[in-house]
Amino acid sequence: MIENEKCPKCENGKLHEVFDEVEPGIKVESFKCGKCSETWYSQEIMEKIEAMQGAKAEQRRLVKVGNSIAAIIPAKIAKKLDLHEKEKIYVEEQNGEILIRASKV
Ligand SMILES: [Zn+2]
Repeated sequence: MIENEKCPKCENGKLHEVFDEVEPGIKVESFKCGKCSETWYSQEIMEKIEAMQGAKAEQRRLVKVGNSIAAIIPAKIAKKLDLHEKEKIYVEEQNGEILIRASKV
């Protein structure tokens, strides 16, 4: 993304450099469309944002349960998603990450 480049979304507005607050107190360089207000980030900034958000995830150690290994769901998350013991969840592997989905969602 560069200053005055045409917006890839509406293909009408021009992009202007702005500082976008992605996390409280963290401002990154971004480009905002003057027409549709879509905000764009460079690849480098995008990677930084992802790394930052990943760092916010809670760290947990896997525990052994029989022949399997189990991950502990933080109480805060269990409460937020209203998860209880013995409830069904779906676990899948996606691009090297583990995705756990509550069945009722
Ligand atoms: Zn636009």
